[in-house]
Amino acid sequence: MARYVGPVCRLCRREGTKLFLKGTRCFSEKCAIDRRSYPPGQHGQARPRASEYSAQLREKQKLKRIYGLLERQFRQYFFKAERKKGITGENLLRLLESRLDNVVYRLGFASSRKQGRMLIRQNHFIVNGKGVNIPSFLVSLNDAIEVKEGSRALVAIQAALEGIGTRGVPSWLELDQNQMKGTVKSHPSKEEIALPVNEQLVVELYSR
Ligand code: SF4
Repeated sequence: MARYVGPVCRLCRREGTKLFLKGTRCFSEKCAIDRRSYPPGQHGQARPRASEYSAQLREKQKLKRIYGLLERQFRQYFFKAERKKGITGENLLRLLESRLDNVVYRLGFASSRKQGRMLIRQNHFIVNGKGVNIPSFLVSLNDAIEVKEGSRALVAIQAALEGIGTRGVPSWLELDQNQMKGTVKSHPSKEEIALPVNEQLVVELYSR
């Protein structure tokens, strides 16, 4: 699956907020947003355009970048969210949040969603007793996500788990750190997802 391979701190600077794309660096003083909070490029410090469309576009880009998706993949999630019952914006957030790479990150088995994606592809996780190596796999209620026994000593996973104290595990997930196992306790609510994004503007953008 295609993915963005350019500089990631640039994406946060473009959106003017921390998107937490680089693991522990995001919590350190090296964070580019803390050092240069204006957009990158020659016109980065110019006054931004304030149209309705640009506000909607920025919210969509933020959400897409947080979950590391390209336009086509993101659009598919939107259409899926639209077809579900309930509020489309919240459905969209819930779908994105249920991706296995996000869940692995939220449980602290990876320091970023990108690293989660890499570890999943390398076959380090089990979902409900079966190996899963698809980052876009959607977890469901009561699913159990475990680190494979042979992968538990992996430096990347151990280091990520050390950092979980800083971030904390959201209340819709439960982590058993000794067993290196997480469980989906409930569907994530908008408040639990807690992202700096106005998902309603994303819905408005795609409804134009
Ligand atoms: Fe964004 Fe993290 Fe880079 Fe800071 S360090 S700009 S939060 S990716």
